[in-house]
Amino acid sequence: NQFAQFGLQDFILKALDDRNFTKPTPVQQRVIPIVMSGKSVVGQSQTGSGKTHAYLLPLMNQIEPDKDQVQAVITAPSRELAYQIHKDAEQIAQFSPQQIRVANYVGGTDKKRQVEKLHHQQPQVVIGTPGRILDLTRTPGGLDIHTAHLFVVDEADMTLDMGFLDQVDQIAGQFPSDLQMLVFSATMPEKLKPFLRKYMSHPVVEEI
Ligand code: AMP
Repeated sequence: NQFAQFGLQDFILKALDDRNFTKPTPVQQRVIPIVMSGKSVVGQSQTGSGKTHAYLLPLMNQIEPDKDQVQAVITAPSRELAYQIHKDAEQIAQFSPQQIRVANYVGGTDKKRQVEKLHHQQPQVVIGTPGRILDLTRTPGGLDIHTAHLFVVDEADMTLDMGFLDQVDQIAGQFPSDLQMLVFSATMPEKLKPFLRKYMSHPVVEEI
């Protein structure tokens, strides 16, 4: 399996074998080593390029299952995309020798139940739409994301189009200053650039 070159943990390679993914796509080939080195990335890539695994593999690789705190947050502009990312993340988590808790928070779901669960335990990986994630972080005893050092904004251009960038900004403001941020966008509209400059000092820009 050509994914072995990246130095990912065994369980990640098992998850890839289970899906018969043997060869990294061009975006995965370029983005995985950058993410593993701890750098921030702006990836200009289309849906269908394999961008989800480009960030999910190194993200899942660095989760510490012993730590009961949020370690990574992923936002998506639609419930459908959030659901798809969650499904891919769960497929990988399933192979981890120690349980990794992946939560999916989108609008239109039972917030009360989510808050009740959060009172007991924080997930380690958070995936969701910006509105619900922000809402849960503002609920007393709710989601606590200030412990996360990795933030992924998927479909940033669509996030802007949908009017969610302000919410993403308010989520990003809750992270520590040594944040590693990964932004994926099919296009790079001017209105996105101030946000990128605010949270990324020296990102690696990859156009794939
Ligand atoms: P994405 O651009 O992340 O939406 O991925 C597009 C499709 O390609 C999805 O169905 C993925 O499951 C699939 N995929 C991602 N990476 C690989 C790979 N390395 N080999 C084969 N299929 C892949």
